[in-house]
Amino acid sequence: MVRETNIADKKFVLHISREQIAARIEELAGSICAQYKDKTPHFIVVLNGAAVFAVDLIKALEMQLTVSFVRLSSYHGLASSGHVKTIIGLDDSFVGRPVIIVEDIIDTGKTLYDFLPEVWDKNPSSVNIATFLTKPGALKYAVAADYTAFEIENKFVVGYGLDYNELGRNLPDLYMLAE
Ligand code: 5GP
Ligand code: MG
Repeated sequence: MVRETNIADKKFVLHISREQIAARIEELAGSICAQYKDKTPHFIVVLNGAAVFAVDLIKALEMQLTVSFVRLSSYHGLASSGHVKTIIGLDDSFVGRPVIIVEDIIDTGKTLYDFLPEVWDKNPSSVNIATFLTKPGALKYAVAADYTAFEIENKFVVGYGLDYNELGRNLPDLYMLAE
């Protein structure tokens, strides 16, 4: 693992290692299993950013579950564009069942704030949120995660699924924008 990496015009420094991520996912998986064992929850993975986290998370869950993917879009470059579009939408497969939404990061909270009513519209029995990251200092909408791997300061990060202009998603560790 490298301590620094350049993506396009920006320099990023290592922030959370793959070992720390793996250990934390095991902890989260333990909590989720304790809450959902024998309930066969449905995981809704928010593409593209949450794909890497979601794959590691569901592999750590020793229980029956189903999974589907949605694609929402609001970010361009380093800042949110402030409106959210649904590009790949929801099916009806989880009516009456518990849902866990899997996100890469809750920044302002806008994405999930707009998306949650769409999920409730399908009449799941419950809706919870598992997110790889939260930025408490950036939160502007009333959205709270039930499972958070890491809280970070209000700075831009890449790696482990998160991108900078679509690059860097494949980095196995998390990097933060250098000063
Ligand atoms: P929100 O709607 O909560 O403001 O933003 C959520 C989305 O913005 C995340 O799902 C993610 O795609 C993107 N985002 C927010 N902060 C960051 C960041 O620091 N790095 C990257 N790569 N994406 C971010
Ligand atoms: Mg996202």
